[in-house]
Amino acid sequence: MQLLDGKLVSAAVKEEIKQQAILHKNNGGKQPHLAAILVGNNGASETYVASKVKNCSDVGFKSSLVRLEENVSETELLATIEQLNTNADVDGILVQLPLPKHIHEEKIINAISPEKDVDGFHPVNIGKLVLGLPSFIPATPFGIMLLLKHYTINTAGKHAVVIGRSNIVGRPMSILLSQNTEPGNCTVTLCHSKTKNLKELCLQADIIVAALGKPGFLTADMVKENAVVIDVGITRVKDESKKSGFAIKGDVDFENVAPKCSYITPVPGGVGLMTIGALLMNTLNAVTKNKL
Ligand code: NAD
Repeated sequence: MQLLDGKLVSAAVKEEIKQQAILHKNNGGKQPHLAAILVGNNGASETYVASKVKNCSDVGFKSSLVRLEENVSETELLATIEQLNTNADVDGILVQLPLPKHIHEEKIINAISPEKDVDGFHPVNIGKLVLGLPSFIPATPFGIMLLLKHYTINTAGKHAVVIGRSNIVGRPMSILLSQNTEPGNCTVTLCHSKTKNLKELCLQADIIVAALGKPGFLTADMVKENAVVIDVGITRVKDESKKSGFAIKGDVDFENVAPKCSYITPVPGGVGLMTIGALLMNTLNAVTKNKL
């Protein structure tokens, strides 16, 4: 079993981004600038946004954080997005999800200019992704593809089972793995909460991507020998032994699944770190218009 080390690979990805940003600037280009909007003070969202801002400075990007009150109106939020859309100094915009219940998430995502939508959630970017056209790819599946590429995992012709069909992880992951690319060219089964024979399907899988948000859901009896297992799950579970009062748990019962795998991602230290690397890559691409 080999660990797919998100810490190591994201560090390499970040170094490459840093060098490309320097090169771009030396050629007369501008410094990439990511603007993040954070509504309210959800603990996990605060942590994610703080990490994104810190990572921007690590690679020499400029970042701005726009904080809005929990009770901000949808109209005010849309106006903030419009300001960033028209600000020529801002290259990438992200609105940290989830948003408070009174705000219509889809309306907010649709308001972000597709050229600045570095999260890759806008329908224009999702549409391009489906068609195999250059686009911003949602950061988590993009990060997973970078991880598979780094370890030169042979995916062509393999059966991949993706558990979870969310618009930000599972569905785009299934599209990327099925594309005629390397990595890619998998035969993909996309599973969800209504899937009946999940264990049976998982046992046929060469690659499993678990993205459902249920700690320890994927157990050893669901995984065949030598499978590649990617754990996307991040759930805060109460843990008195931790200073924070919680531990981060993935969707895979790592201890028992890992011995059966050829490759597996740890949680933490796997997909989460790659997600940030991919977001930075999208922001760089927004500036250089590379691959877009
Ligand atoms: P979501 O809640 O939007 O979607 C969950 C999906 O899982 C749904 O499509 C649902 O049908 C499916 N599901 C639920 N129960 C199931 C079951 N018993 N069997 C099969 N499918 C089932 O979640 P999401 O936003 O896609 O996130 C999934 C997990 O990934 C969460 O833990 C989230 O925190 C984590 N996440 C991690 C990163 C990262 O950077 N590592 C990024 C995004 C999300």
